[in-house]
Amino acid sequence: MRTPLIAANWKMHKTWPEAATDFTALEGELSARKAAQAALPDVVVCPPYPMLALYPLLFPGGASFALGAQNVHHEASGAYTGEVSAPMLTVLGAAYVIVGHSERRRDFGEDAVVGAKVARALEHDLTPIVCVGETLDARRAGETEAVVGAQLAAALAAVTPEAAAAGRLVIAYEPVWAIGTGEAATPEAAQAVARFIRAEVAERFGAQAAEATRILYGGSVTADNLGGFLAEPDIDGALVGGASLDVRHFLRLVDLAAGRPADRTAHDGG
Ligand code: PEP
Repeated sequence: MRTPLIAANWKMHKTWPEAATDFTALEGELSARKAAQAALPDVVVCPPYPMLALYPLLFPGGASFALGAQNVHHEASGAYTGEVSAPMLTVLGAAYVIVGHSERRRDFGEDAVVGAKVARALEHDLTPIVCVGETLDARRAGETEAVVGAQLAAALAAVTPEAAAAGRLVIAYEPVWAIGTGEAATPEAAQAVARFIRAEVAERFGAQAAEATRILYGGSVTADNLGGFLAEPDIDGALVGGASLDVRHFLRLVDLAAGRPADRTAHDGG
């Protein structure tokens, strides 16, 4: 059984005080659920780089959610002005890193370095959340599997079968046309691509790795549509942008993934 995973991508939002307030509120709610022995999915929050440092400051003994970064450089150190390395992330307590988000592929031309970033992350004990997904033009041209297959081949080229079999891979299917648009994929369409991704992982690394790999859906996820995605057999959680920014809305997603009816009285935004 794969543990569901709900990951928040805060993108370039929140200041240090806002992030501190939200980290504290989230931890309070999650630790209360843990104290009540409620089931929890794995929860990951990926704030902007500066706010990563809040995590060890606020939670020196650890927290109920894991820390993730939104990006990492493919070299471990060197003359790369403005960049952040994997060892810099792990020392802050980060356990995950988003790699190959479509906004980075689009704005920073990162397609060619995704494989090296994934390998570097794994080498430094970071679990990569590898983002793949097609544009609207590619979908309309019937090229979804070709695009996603090529992205996967590049991203996983340097991954070892041992790392894959140990469940060290998280793959987020994020159709570009669904990100930040309010137009989520249908659960059936997302499931079809998630099944394709799992088959690709099986082909490359074997059945055990395919079973161990968590596949997320991302793209305009909210508390109103998450249940449909989680009901699909190959979707193990979600990577969430806009709907993760409000702690109370994000907690509704966490509760849904835990199999609890979400608190409908909570703030409805997102
Ligand atoms: C994302 O940034 O990965 C994302 C899925 O954003 P949103 O939920 O806002 O579509």
